[in-house]
Formats: sequence, C-alpha cells, structure tokens
Amino acid sequence: MEITVFFVGHGLCIIITGGDATILYDAGGINIKEKDKVVGAIVNKIVLGGKNKLNVILSHAHKDHVNLLPSILNSKRLEEFEVRIIVGGEEKEDDDKIGIEKIHKKSVFGYTKTVDPEDFLFGLGDGIQVNYCTNDREDFDKDKDNAISIIMHVKDTVGFSAILGGDANENSFKNFEFLESNLYLITHHGSNKFHANTTSLLQKIKPNIAVVSAYLSYNHPRLETMQHVIQTSTMANAPKHKITCGVKDSNQSTFLGTTINSNQDYQTFETSKAIYTTRDTGGVSFESNQDGEVYVQFENRKQKLLDLGRKLWSFSSTSNNGMKIKLVKS
Ligand SMILES: [Zn+2]
Repeated sequence: MEITVFFVGHGLCIIITGGDATILYDAGGINIKEKDKVVGAIVNKIVLGGKNKLNVILSHAHKDHVNLLPSILNSKRLEEFEVRIIVGGEEKEDDDKIGIEKIHKKSVFGYTKTVDPEDFLFGLGDGIQVNYCTNDREDFDKDKDNAISIIMHVKDTVGFSAILGGDANENSFKNFEFLESNLYLITHHGSNKFHANTTSLLQKIKPNIAVVSAYLSYNHPRLETMQHVIQTSTMANAPKHKITCGVKDSNQSTFLGTTINSNQDYQTFETSKAIYTTRDTGGVSFESNQDGEVYVQFENRKQKLLDLGRKLWSFSSTSNNGMKIKLVKS
C-alpha cells in the first residue's frame, strides 16, 4: 500500500494505492502556488494506480477539502475511470461546496447522511482493508461541520495501517473501533481547538509516524498539537529534520529545546521524531513492501512535482505491532 500526502497549501489531498481500486481521500487546497502542476501530479498518481476505478471520499464539504476535485475529474486522462464520490454529512446550501454540483453529472455521488459508505465504495478487493466511521450525530461541540468528517482506517496485507480523519476532533472518533494505526494523519491541519489531536486520542491511536498537511493558515499546525504527537511514546525516531509550527500567543516558553518567540506567527524547530509537515517536506509518501518495511519518500518542493526527489533516510524502529518501519537512504 502506498499513501501519498500531496502538498496542497492549506488543505488536504491523499491518494491510497495498492488495492484493486484507488482511493482519493479529500481533494482540496487553498493558497496553492502552482495549482495546475499539483493537479497534474494528483491525476498522474491516480492514473499510475491503474485499475480504472476511483473511490473519492471527501471527509466533509469545506473548500480546503473539495475545491480541487472538479479540475482533477475533468482531466481527459481520467475519462475511462469509473468514479464514485461520497461526502461526509448532508447536502446543504453552503459556499464551501463550490464545484461538487458540477461533478454530480459525471459520477455516482452521495452524502453519508443518505447512503451507507460500506455499500457505496466499490472494487477495493482484498489487498487493502478499509473501515469507516461516519459522523452524523448531533451531540458534537461547536465545530460541528469539521467534526462530521468521515474517518477512515486502512490496513494492507502486511499489517501497515493508517488513520485519516479530515478535520475531525476527539469526539468524532468516539464510536470507532479501528483506532490503532502505524501512520496518523494529524487531523484539522494540526489544530488543537475543539478537542482535536488530544493526548488521550493519540494514546489510543499509538502512531509510529505522523504527518500534517498545513500551510500558512490559522497558525496550523499548532505547536501544542505537535507536542502531543511527539510526546506519544509509540512515535518512531527519525533523522533530525525541520518542522514549522504556529506559535502565535503560545503560552509555552520552549519547544524541542528552542526558545519560542510567540510574537511571530510561525517558527521552525528541529525534531528527531518521525513527524512531518507538508510545509517543510512538500508532498510525502509512505509505502509498505512485502517484508513489512515502510518507506518514506519526500518530494523536494524546489523540484518539479512530478519527479518525487528521492531523499530517503536510514533508520528502523519496532512499531506497536512488532513491524519494522524502515526509512532507507537511497
Ligand atoms: Zn480543513
């Protein structure tokens, strides 16, 4: 299984390949400098995944999670693809849904309020096991639209697993059984508001690797969230690398051994834990092989998006299920 997190500015766009059908989880990004190139790279990945079947899961209908979908699906290269789109929540008049209406005509389309995603998704085969949680409950905190995000747990035949939750908060995960995961896609771009990315949730997920998709908005990812993740005991060690976090008005005085200047919006730190930010790495992908090793590959943002520059590092660490996570310098 390969999980690719694209660098989409402020937003989220992930492609999962390795099963009989490709999965596109969210397709949005704002503040993207080279939108056409990014869309081209996303389409390329879908085409390379093959199989002519695409499941699109939009965690919820906010612009930063959906706005690239029309451009992606209008690509001629996807003309032969059978596409199904499921969106968290229910249809309502909302500016953030710009674009989805146009795709109705082209694809099978539904909201989790009215269709069951278990019946809706198709052609996934046995290579990847997928479990979902949809959140249509009324008892969420204030940030209800985000909390409604579809949560997805994926696991391949060698046991490599990941959990993706759009902009979900801790409550959104409450009734979901499939929490423990090697890879955690830090939700809500690293927010710590509305009980997102809490220490108690991370203790249930037990991640070894974490990644956050964020860029220059809302002080995401927040320093406090990154601290919660780094302090989770299951996190693997990695060679030192940079992570940039929102520090504005933080009440911490230091983070990762560096003094915080909370008068500025963002600050860059160095960590030796396997936590990554798309702002610092560009796109990043995680791929397992038949030996149960997981490889991490970073895109160098200064290079073309289509050639994912190989910048791999060597380390290994025993994960919670005894599987080795290996990042190898090529
Ligand atoms: Zn978002």
